[in-house]
Amino acid sequence: MTSHYSALSLLKEGLNAQKGWRPAWRSPEPKPRYDVVIIGAGGQGLATAYYLAKSHGIRNVAVIERGWLGGGNTGRNTTAIRSNYFYPESTALYDLSLRLYEKLGRELNYNIMLSQRGMVQLVHSPAEMEMAARMVNAMQVNGVQAELLDVAQVRKLVPIYNFASDARYPVFGAIYQARAGVARHDAVAWGYARAADRLGIDIIQQCEVREFLIEGGRCRGVLTSRGEIRADRVGMAVAGSSGVLAAKAGFRLPITSYTLQACVSEPVKPILNTVLVSPATGTYVSQSDKGEIVIGGGLDRVPSYGQRGNLPMLETTISGLLEMFPLFRQLRLLRQWGGTVDVTPDSSPIFGESPLLGLFLNGGWGTGGFKAIPAGGTVFAHLLATGSHHEISRPFDLSRFGSGHLIDEAAGSGIAH
Ligand code: FAD
Repeated sequence: MTSHYSALSLLKEGLNAQKGWRPAWRSPEPKPRYDVVIIGAGGQGLATAYYLAKSHGIRNVAVIERGWLGGGNTGRNTTAIRSNYFYPESTALYDLSLRLYEKLGRELNYNIMLSQRGMVQLVHSPAEMEMAARMVNAMQVNGVQAELLDVAQVRKLVPIYNFASDARYPVFGAIYQARAGVARHDAVAWGYARAADRLGIDIIQQCEVREFLIEGGRCRGVLTSRGEIRADRVGMAVAGSSGVLAAKAGFRLPITSYTLQACVSEPVKPILNTVLVSPATGTYVSQSDKGEIVIGGGLDRVPSYGQRGNLPMLETTISGLLEMFPLFRQLRLLRQWGGTVDVTPDSSPIFGESPLLGLFLNGGWGTGGFKAIPAGGTVFAHLLATGSHHEISRPFDLSRFGSGHLIDEAAGSGIAH
Protein backbone atom coordinates (compact mmCIF):
# COMPACT_ATOMS: atom_id res chain seq x y z
CA MET A 1 0.00 0.00 0.00
CA THR A 2 1.56 3.32 -1.01
CA SER A 3 0.56 6.64 0.50
CA HIS A 4 0.38 9.85 -1.50
CA TYR A 5 0.30 11.97 1.61
CA SER A 6 3.01 12.72 4.15
CA ALA A 7 2.13 13.49 7.77
CA LEU A 8 2.82 17.17 7.05
CA SER A 9 0.55 17.30 4.01
CA LEU A 10 -2.19 15.52 6.00
CA LEU A 11 -1.96 18.23 8.66
CA LYS A 12 -1.99 20.97 5.97
CA GLU A 13 -5.07 19.48 4.31
CA GLY A 14 -6.81 19.16 7.68
CA LEU A 15 -6.31 22.89 8.28
CA ASN A 16 -7.26 23.72 4.69
CA ALA A 17 -10.67 21.92 4.52
CA GLN A 18 -8.97 19.25 2.35
CA LYS A 19 -9.13 21.52 -0.72
CA GLY A 20 -5.94 20.04 -2.19
CA TRP A 21 -7.11 16.42 -2.16
CA ARG A 22 -7.81 14.67 -5.44
CA PRO A 23 -11.21 12.91 -5.39
CA ALA A 24 -10.90 9.12 -5.53
CA TRP A 25 -13.21 9.04 -8.58
CA ARG A 26 -14.59 11.60 -11.05
CA SER A 27 -18.22 12.77 -11.26
CA PRO A 28 -18.65 12.80 -15.04
CA GLU A 29 -21.68 13.96 -16.98
CA PRO A 30 -23.36 10.99 -18.68
CA LYS A 31 -22.49 10.55 -22.36
CA PRO A 32 -25.36 9.81 -24.79
CA ARG A 33 -23.92 6.36 -25.67
CA TYR A 34 -21.69 3.69 -24.11
CA ASP A 35 -20.69 0.16 -25.14
CA VAL A 36 -22.07 -1.16 -21.86
CA VAL A 37 -24.30 0.40 -19.20
CA ILE A 38 -24.43 -1.19 -15.75
CA ILE A 39 -27.32 -0.23 -13.47
CA GLY A 40 -26.33 -0.13 -9.79
CA ALA A 41 -23.06 1.03 -8.21
CA GLY A 42 -22.99 -1.56 -5.44
CA GLY A 43 -20.07 -3.94 -5.17
CA GLN A 44 -21.44 -6.22 -7.90
CA GLY A 45 -21.90 -3.40 -10.44
CA LEU A 46 -18.57 -1.72 -9.66
CA ALA A 47 -16.61 -4.98 -9.75
CA THR A 48 -18.24 -5.85 -13.08
CA ALA A 49 -17.16 -2.51 -14.54
CA TYR A 50 -13.62 -2.98 -13.23
CA TYR A 51 -13.27 -6.48 -14.74
CA LEU A 52 -14.85 -5.35 -18.04
CA ALA A 53 -12.05 -2.80 -18.39
CA LYS A 54 -9.25 -4.86 -16.88
CA SER A 55 -9.92 -8.32 -18.31
CA HIS A 56 -11.80 -7.52 -21.54
CA GLY A 57 -10.45 -4.07 -22.50
CA ILE A 58 -13.99 -2.61 -22.61
CA ARG A 59 -13.70 0.87 -21.09
CA ASN A 60 -16.53 2.80 -22.68
CA VAL A 61 -18.76 1.81 -19.78
CA ALA A 62 -21.11 3.70 -17.44
CA VAL A 63 -22.21 2.57 -13.99
CA ILE A 64 -25.45 4.34 -13.15
CA GLU A 65 -26.46 4.77 -9.53
CA ARG A 66 -29.64 6.39 -8.24
CA GLY A 67 -28.08 7.27 -4.86
CA TRP A 68 -24.44 7.15 -3.83
CA LEU A 69 -22.05 4.33 -4.65
CA GLY A 70 -22.02 1.58 -2.04
CA GLY A 71 -25.15 3.04 -0.40
CA GLY A 72 -27.28 -0.08 -1.07
CA ASN A 73 -26.75 -3.50 0.47
CA THR A 74 -23.00 -3.32 -0.10
CA GLY A 75 -22.80 -0.69 2.65
CA ARG A 76 -25.43 -2.36 4.84
CA ASN A 77 -24.24 -5.94 5.24
CA THR A 78 -22.49 -7.68 8.09
CA THR A 79 -19.39 -8.33 5.94
CA ALA A 80 -19.15 -12.11 6.34
CA ILE A 81 -17.08 -13.85 3.68
CA ARG A 82 -16.89 -17.63 3.26
CA SER A 83 -17.12 -20.37 0.64
CA ASN A 84 -18.47 -23.30 2.66
CA TYR A 85 -21.53 -23.95 0.54
CA PHE A 86 -22.93 -27.40 -0.25
CA TYR A 87 -23.33 -27.79 -4.01
CA PRO A 88 -20.34 -27.87 -6.40
CA GLU A 89 -21.88 -25.05 -8.50
CA SER A 90 -21.96 -22.80 -5.42
CA THR A 91 -18.53 -23.71 -4.12
CA ALA A 92 -17.04 -22.94 -7.56
CA LEU A 93 -18.55 -19.44 -7.41
CA TYR A 94 -17.92 -18.60 -3.77
CA ASP A 95 -14.47 -20.13 -3.54
CA LEU A 96 -13.34 -18.19 -6.62
CA SER A 97 -14.60 -15.12 -4.78
CA LEU A 98 -12.70 -15.94 -1.61
CA ARG A 99 -9.51 -16.51 -3.60
CA LEU A 100 -9.98 -13.17 -5.38
CA TYR A 101 -10.66 -11.45 -2.03
CA GLU A 102 -7.40 -12.85 -0.70
CA LYS A 103 -5.43 -10.77 -3.23
CA LEU A 104 -7.86 -7.88 -3.73
CA GLY A 105 -6.22 -5.34 -1.40
CA ARG A 106 -2.95 -5.66 -3.29
CA GLU A 107 -4.63 -5.71 -6.70
CA LEU A 108 -6.64 -2.51 -6.06
CA ASN A 109 -3.94 -0.95 -3.86
CA TYR A 110 -6.75 -0.36 -1.36
CA ASN A 111 -6.93 -1.69 2.16
CA ILE A 112 -10.18 -3.69 2.23
CA MET A 113 -9.33 -4.84 5.78
CA LEU A 114 -9.75 -8.52 4.95
CA SER A 115 -9.54 -10.48 8.17
CA GLN A 116 -9.62 -14.26 7.77
CA ARG A 117 -10.55 -14.97 11.36
CA GLY A 118 -12.59 -18.09 10.52
CA MET A 119 -16.27 -18.89 10.76
CA VAL A 120 -17.80 -21.18 13.38
CA GLN A 121 -21.19 -22.56 12.39
CA LEU A 122 -22.67 -24.01 15.58
CA VAL A 123 -24.37 -27.37 15.83
CA HIS A 124 -27.03 -27.52 18.56
CA SER A 125 -28.12 -31.19 18.60
CA PRO A 126 -26.70 -34.71 18.00
CA ALA A 127 -28.95 -35.15 14.93
CA GLU A 128 -27.66 -31.88 13.48
CA MET A 129 -24.11 -33.11 14.16
CA GLU A 130 -24.68 -36.02 11.78
CA MET A 131 -25.84 -33.61 9.08
CA ALA A 132 -22.87 -31.36 9.79
CA ALA A 133 -20.47 -34.28 9.21
CA ARG A 134 -22.09 -34.93 5.84
CA MET A 135 -21.84 -31.24 4.92
CA VAL A 136 -18.16 -31.08 5.79
CA ASN A 137 -17.55 -34.23 3.70
CA ALA A 138 -19.39 -32.65 0.75
CA MET A 139 -17.38 -29.43 1.09
CA GLN A 140 -14.10 -31.31 1.21
CA VAL A 141 -15.09 -33.38 -1.86
CA ASN A 142 -15.75 -30.05 -3.63
CA GLY A 143 -12.23 -28.95 -2.74
CA VAL A 144 -13.32 -26.39 -0.16
CA GLN A 145 -11.51 -26.13 3.14
CA ALA A 146 -13.89 -27.02 6.02
CA GLU A 147 -13.65 -29.12 9.17
CA LEU A 148 -15.88 -30.56 11.85
CA LEU A 149 -15.10 -29.36 15.37
CA ASP A 150 -16.03 -31.03 18.65
CA VAL A 151 -17.22 -29.05 21.70
CA ALA A 152 -13.74 -28.69 23.17
CA GLN A 153 -12.47 -27.15 19.94
CA VAL A 154 -15.42 -24.74 19.79
CA ARG A 155 -14.80 -23.78 23.44
CA LYS A 156 -11.22 -22.91 22.56
CA LEU A 157 -12.29 -20.65 19.70
CA VAL A 158 -15.23 -18.98 21.47
CA PRO A 159 -14.58 -19.16 25.22
CA ILE A 160 -17.23 -16.52 25.99
CA TYR A 161 -20.10 -18.71 24.68
CA ASN A 162 -22.57 -20.08 27.25
CA PHE A 163 -21.44 -23.73 27.57
CA ALA A 164 -23.38 -24.29 30.84
CA SER A 165 -25.13 -27.67 31.14
CA ASP A 166 -28.55 -25.95 31.29
CA ALA A 167 -27.82 -23.57 28.39
CA ARG A 168 -30.81 -22.74 26.18
CA TYR A 169 -28.71 -23.43 23.05
CA PRO A 170 -26.29 -26.25 23.92
CA VAL A 171 -23.39 -26.88 21.55
CA PHE A 172 -22.44 -30.32 20.21
CA GLY A 173 -19.80 -29.13 17.74
CA ALA A 174 -19.43 -26.87 14.72
CA ILE A 175 -18.58 -26.63 11.05
CA TYR A 176 -15.48 -24.48 10.79
CA GLN A 177 -13.91 -22.72 7.83
CA ALA A 178 -10.61 -21.11 8.82
CA ARG A 179 -10.30 -19.13 5.56
CA ALA A 180 -13.64 -17.39 6.13
CA GLY A 181 -13.81 -13.98 7.80
CA VAL A 182 -14.81 -10.38 7.21
CA ALA A 183 -13.75 -7.40 5.07
CA ARG A 184 -14.63 -3.73 5.33
CA HIS A 185 -17.67 -3.41 3.04
CA ASP A 186 -17.35 0.29 2.10
CA ALA A 187 -13.69 -0.23 1.27
CA VAL A 188 -14.60 -2.98 -1.19
CA ALA A 189 -16.97 -0.59 -3.01
CA TRP A 190 -14.52 2.33 -2.83
CA GLY A 191 -11.56 0.24 -3.96
CA TYR A 192 -13.37 -1.09 -7.02
CA ALA A 193 -14.80 2.39 -7.77
CA ARG A 194 -11.39 4.05 -7.70
CA ALA A 195 -9.79 1.32 -9.81
CA ALA A 196 -12.66 1.33 -12.35
CA ASP A 197 -12.57 5.14 -12.58
CA ARG A 198 -8.84 5.06 -13.28
CA LEU A 199 -9.46 2.61 -16.13
CA GLY A 200 -11.84 5.16 -17.68
CA ILE A 201 -15.22 3.90 -16.43
CA ASP A 202 -17.82 6.65 -15.83
CA ILE A 203 -19.53 6.23 -12.45
CA ILE A 204 -22.64 8.39 -12.55
CA GLN A 205 -24.27 8.89 -9.16
CA GLN A 206 -27.61 10.56 -8.37
CA CYS A 207 -28.99 9.20 -11.63
CA GLU A 208 -32.00 6.89 -11.49
CA VAL A 209 -32.93 4.46 -14.25
CA ARG A 210 -36.65 4.94 -14.84
CA GLU A 211 -37.37 3.04 -18.08
CA PHE A 212 -35.67 0.84 -20.63
CA LEU A 213 -35.31 1.91 -24.26
CA ILE A 214 -36.77 -1.03 -26.18
CA GLU A 215 -36.47 -1.03 -29.97
CA GLY A 216 -37.03 -3.97 -32.31
CA GLY A 217 -37.64 -6.23 -29.30
CA ARG A 218 -34.19 -5.49 -27.82
CA CYS A 219 -32.92 -3.32 -25.01
CA ARG A 220 -31.06 -0.34 -26.51
CA GLY A 221 -30.37 1.65 -23.38
CA VAL A 222 -32.04 3.34 -20.44
CA LEU A 223 -34.07 6.44 -19.73
CA THR A 224 -32.72 8.04 -16.58
CA SER A 225 -33.49 11.03 -14.37
CA ARG A 226 -30.65 12.72 -16.31
CA GLY A 227 -31.81 11.78 -19.79
CA GLU A 228 -31.41 8.95 -22.28
CA ILE A 229 -28.27 6.80 -22.21
CA ARG A 230 -27.86 4.31 -25.05
CA ALA A 231 -25.96 1.02 -25.02
CA ASP A 232 -26.49 -2.28 -26.83
CA ARG A 233 -25.64 -4.19 -23.67
CA VAL A 234 -27.21 -3.24 -20.36
CA GLY A 235 -26.40 -5.07 -17.12
CA MET A 236 -28.60 -4.93 -14.07
CA ALA A 237 -26.98 -5.32 -10.61
CA VAL A 238 -29.57 -3.65 -8.41
CA ALA A 239 -29.99 -6.19 -5.56
CA GLY A 240 -33.39 -5.54 -3.87
CA SER A 241 -34.73 -3.56 -6.85
CA SER A 242 -34.47 -6.35 -9.45
CA GLY A 243 -38.21 -7.09 -9.42
CA VAL A 244 -39.10 -3.41 -9.85
CA LEU A 245 -36.80 -2.96 -12.84
CA ALA A 246 -37.77 -6.31 -14.38
CA ALA A 247 -41.40 -5.14 -14.37
CA LYS A 248 -40.32 -2.01 -16.30
CA ALA A 249 -38.57 -4.26 -18.82
CA GLY A 250 -41.75 -6.32 -19.23
CA PHE A 251 -40.97 -9.58 -17.41
CA ARG A 252 -41.21 -11.12 -13.94
CA LEU A 253 -38.42 -12.68 -11.93
CA PRO A 254 -38.83 -15.60 -9.50
CA ILE A 255 -37.86 -13.48 -6.51
CA THR A 256 -39.46 -12.18 -3.33
CA SER A 257 -38.06 -9.06 -1.69
CA TYR A 258 -37.61 -8.96 2.08
CA THR A 259 -35.95 -6.67 4.60
CA LEU A 260 -32.84 -8.10 6.23
CA GLN A 261 -31.75 -6.34 9.41
CA ALA A 262 -28.59 -5.96 11.46
CA CYS A 263 -27.32 -3.89 14.35
CA VAL A 264 -24.09 -2.97 16.16
CA SER A 265 -23.23 -2.41 19.78
CA GLU A 266 -21.01 0.26 21.23
CA PRO A 267 -17.31 -0.56 20.68
CA VAL A 268 -15.55 -2.71 23.28
CA LYS A 269 -12.10 -4.24 23.59
CA PRO A 270 -11.35 -7.38 21.50
CA ILE A 271 -13.48 -10.21 22.86
CA LEU A 272 -14.64 -12.30 19.87
CA ASN A 273 -12.08 -13.38 17.31
CA THR A 274 -14.18 -15.32 14.83
CA VAL A 275 -17.47 -15.06 12.96
CA LEU A 276 -20.04 -17.15 14.81
CA VAL A 277 -23.24 -18.37 13.18
CA SER A 278 -26.07 -20.21 14.88
CA PRO A 279 -28.32 -21.40 12.02
CA ALA A 280 -30.85 -22.86 14.46
CA THR A 281 -31.47 -19.49 16.15
CA GLY A 282 -30.84 -17.42 13.03
CA THR A 283 -28.36 -15.23 14.93
CA TYR A 284 -24.81 -14.51 13.83
CA VAL A 285 -22.18 -12.27 15.32
CA SER A 286 -18.65 -10.93 14.85
CA GLN A 287 -16.60 -8.05 16.21
CA SER A 288 -15.54 -5.20 13.95
CA ASP A 289 -11.99 -3.85 13.98
CA LYS A 290 -13.45 -0.75 15.69
CA GLY A 291 -14.68 -3.01 18.51
CA GLU A 292 -18.41 -2.95 17.78
CA ILE A 293 -20.24 -6.26 18.14
CA VAL A 294 -21.92 -6.76 14.73
CA ILE A 295 -25.16 -8.71 15.07
CA GLY A 296 -27.39 -10.12 12.36
CA GLY A 297 -30.48 -12.27 12.24
CA GLY A 298 -32.86 -13.92 9.81
CA LEU A 299 -35.06 -12.38 7.15
CA ASP A 300 -38.24 -10.53 7.97
CA ARG A 301 -41.17 -12.89 7.42
CA VAL A 302 -43.26 -10.40 5.45
CA PRO A 303 -42.09 -9.28 2.00
CA SER A 304 -41.52 -5.52 1.83
CA TYR A 305 -39.35 -2.72 0.48
CA GLY A 306 -39.10 -1.06 3.92
CA GLN A 307 -35.35 -0.44 4.06
CA ARG A 308 -35.12 0.01 7.85
CA GLY A 309 -34.95 -1.95 11.08
CA ASN A 310 -37.86 -2.69 13.44
CA LEU A 311 -38.31 -3.77 17.05
CA PRO A 312 -39.78 -7.32 16.70
CA MET A 313 -36.81 -8.57 14.64
CA LEU A 314 -34.37 -6.83 16.94
CA GLU A 315 -35.95 -8.50 19.96
CA THR A 316 -35.83 -11.99 18.40
CA THR A 317 -32.22 -11.65 17.31
CA ILE A 318 -30.97 -10.10 20.54
CA SER A 319 -32.79 -12.58 22.79
CA GLY A 320 -31.08 -15.46 20.89
CA LEU A 321 -27.75 -13.69 21.17
CA LEU A 322 -28.03 -13.10 24.91
CA GLU A 323 -28.83 -16.76 25.58
CA MET A 324 -25.62 -17.66 23.76
CA PHE A 325 -23.48 -14.82 25.16
CA PRO A 326 -24.85 -13.76 28.58
CA LEU A 327 -22.00 -11.27 29.02
CA PHE A 328 -23.31 -9.19 26.08
CA ARG A 329 -26.18 -8.10 28.39
CA GLN A 330 -23.93 -5.25 29.49
CA LEU A 331 -23.65 -3.81 25.98
CA ARG A 332 -25.60 -0.86 24.66
CA LEU A 333 -26.81 -0.91 21.07
CA LEU A 334 -25.55 1.84 18.82
CA ARG A 335 -27.37 1.45 15.50
CA GLN A 336 -29.92 -0.76 13.75
CA TRP A 337 -30.65 -0.79 10.01
CA GLY A 338 -32.14 -2.83 7.20
CA GLY A 339 -31.55 -3.59 3.52
CA THR A 340 -33.88 -4.99 0.86
CA VAL A 341 -32.76 -8.40 -0.39
CA ASP A 342 -34.15 -10.40 -3.32
CA VAL A 343 -34.61 -14.07 -2.47
CA THR A 344 -34.97 -16.76 -5.17
CA PRO A 345 -36.79 -20.10 -4.65
CA ASP A 346 -33.43 -21.93 -4.29
CA SER A 347 -31.55 -19.16 -2.41
CA SER A 348 -28.97 -18.95 -5.20
CA PRO A 349 -28.23 -15.97 -7.44
CA ILE A 350 -29.38 -15.38 -11.00
CA PHE A 351 -27.00 -14.62 -13.90
CA GLY A 352 -27.76 -14.49 -17.60
CA GLU A 353 -29.47 -12.68 -20.42
CA SER A 354 -33.01 -11.69 -19.46
CA PRO A 355 -36.16 -12.34 -21.51
CA LEU A 356 -35.52 -8.82 -22.93
CA LEU A 357 -32.55 -9.37 -25.26
CA GLY A 358 -29.63 -7.07 -24.57
CA LEU A 359 -30.51 -6.80 -20.88
CA PHE A 360 -28.40 -9.03 -18.60
CA LEU A 361 -29.06 -10.03 -14.99
CA ASN A 362 -26.90 -10.18 -11.87
CA GLY A 363 -29.21 -10.52 -8.89
CA GLY A 364 -31.16 -12.72 -6.52
CA TRP A 365 -28.29 -12.61 -4.02
CA GLY A 366 -30.64 -12.79 -1.07
CA THR A 367 -28.68 -12.45 2.13
CA GLY A 368 -25.25 -13.44 0.81
CA GLY A 369 -23.94 -11.45 -2.16
CA PHE A 370 -21.22 -9.42 -0.45
CA LYS A 371 -18.86 -12.39 -0.26
CA ALA A 372 -19.51 -12.99 -3.96
CA ILE A 373 -18.56 -9.52 -5.23
CA PRO A 374 -15.18 -10.35 -6.85
CA ALA A 375 -16.49 -13.55 -8.48
CA GLY A 376 -19.87 -12.03 -9.38
CA GLY A 377 -18.06 -9.12 -11.07
CA THR A 378 -15.73 -11.51 -12.91
CA VAL A 379 -18.44 -13.75 -14.36
CA PHE A 380 -20.87 -10.89 -15.08
CA ALA A 381 -18.15 -8.99 -16.94
CA HIS A 382 -17.53 -12.13 -19.02
CA LEU A 383 -21.25 -12.35 -19.81
CA LEU A 384 -21.50 -8.68 -20.81
CA ALA A 385 -18.28 -8.78 -22.85
CA THR A 386 -18.94 -12.01 -24.76
CA GLY A 387 -22.72 -12.39 -24.63
CA SER A 388 -22.31 -15.91 -23.26
CA HIS A 389 -21.90 -17.45 -19.82
CA HIS A 390 -18.63 -17.95 -17.95
CA GLU A 391 -18.55 -21.67 -17.04
CA ILE A 392 -19.09 -20.73 -13.37
CA SER A 393 -22.22 -18.63 -14.01
CA ARG A 394 -23.90 -21.06 -16.45
CA PRO A 395 -25.69 -23.16 -13.77
CA PHE A 396 -27.14 -19.94 -12.31
CA ASP A 397 -29.02 -19.03 -15.51
CA LEU A 398 -32.65 -17.97 -15.15
CA SER A 399 -33.65 -21.02 -17.22
CA ARG A 400 -33.00 -23.29 -14.20
CA PHE A 401 -36.39 -22.32 -12.78
CA GLY A 402 -37.98 -23.77 -15.94
CA SER A 403 -35.80 -26.87 -16.20
CA GLY A 404 -35.91 -27.65 -12.46
CA HIS A 405 -32.11 -27.71 -12.09
CA LEU A 406 -32.23 -25.78 -8.82
CA ILE A 407 -29.19 -25.17 -6.60
CA ASP A 408 -31.00 -25.24 -3.28
CA GLU A 409 -28.48 -23.83 -0.85
CA ALA A 410 -31.06 -23.06 1.88
CA ALA A 411 -31.65 -26.81 2.07
CA GLY A 412 -28.02 -27.72 1.33
CA SER A 413 -25.79 -25.60 3.54
CA GLY A 414 -28.57 -24.23 5.73
CA ILE A 415 -27.00 -20.83 6.36
CA ALA A 416 -27.64 -17.76 4.39
CA HIS A 417 -25.27 -14.89 4.97
P1 FAD B 1 -26.26 -3.15 -3.76
O1 FAD B 1 -25.05 -2.85 -2.99
O2 FAD B 1 -27.59 -2.99 -3.09
O3 FAD B 1 -26.21 -2.25 -5.06
C1 FAD B 1 -27.33 -2.08 -5.91
C2 FAD B 1 -27.42 -0.61 -6.26
O4 FAD B 1 -28.40 -0.43 -7.26
C3 FAD B 1 -27.84 0.26 -5.07
O5 FAD B 1 -26.79 1.15 -4.75
C4 FAD B 1 -29.08 0.96 -5.56
O6 FAD B 1 -29.19 2.31 -5.13
C5 FAD B 1 -28.95 0.86 -7.07
N1 FAD B 1 -30.22 0.96 -7.80
C6 FAD B 1 -31.37 0.30 -7.54
N2 FAD B 1 -32.32 0.67 -8.41
C7 FAD B 1 -31.75 1.60 -9.24
C8 FAD B 1 -32.25 2.37 -10.34
N3 FAD B 1 -33.52 2.27 -10.76
N4 FAD B 1 -31.39 3.21 -10.97
C9 FAD B 1 -30.10 3.33 -10.55
N5 FAD B 1 -29.59 2.64 -9.50
C10 FAD B 1 -30.41 1.77 -8.86
N6 FAD B 1 -23.79 -10.77 2.18
C11 FAD B 1 -22.70 -11.49 2.54
O7 FAD B 1 -22.05 -12.10 1.70
N7 FAD B 1 -22.29 -11.55 3.84
C12 FAD B 1 -23.00 -10.95 4.83
O8 FAD B 1 -22.61 -11.00 6.01
C13 FAD B 1 -24.18 -10.24 4.49
N8 FAD B 1 -24.91 -9.64 5.46
C14 FAD B 1 -25.98 -8.86 5.11
C15 FAD B 1 -26.66 -8.16 6.12
C16 FAD B 1 -27.67 -7.27 5.80
C17 FAD B 1 -28.36 -6.54 6.89
C18 FAD B 1 -28.04 -7.09 4.42
C19 FAD B 1 -29.12 -6.14 4.03
C20 FAD B 1 -27.39 -7.81 3.41
C21 FAD B 1 -26.36 -8.69 3.74
N9 FAD B 1 -25.64 -9.41 2.77
C22 FAD B 1 -24.54 -10.15 3.11
C23 FAD B 1 -26.06 -9.35 1.35
C24 FAD B 1 -25.19 -8.41 0.54
O9 FAD B 1 -25.09 -7.16 1.19
C25 FAD B 1 -25.76 -8.20 -0.86
O10 FAD B 1 -26.09 -9.45 -1.45
C26 FAD B 1 -24.75 -7.50 -1.76
O11 FAD B 1 -24.30 -6.31 -1.18
C27 FAD B 1 -25.37 -7.22 -3.11
O12 FAD B 1 -24.51 -6.35 -3.82
P2 FAD B 1 -25.09 -5.54 -5.02
O13 FAD B 1 -24.00 -4.73 -5.59
O14 FAD B 1 -25.83 -6.47 -5.92
O15 FAD B 1 -26.24 -4.63 -4.37
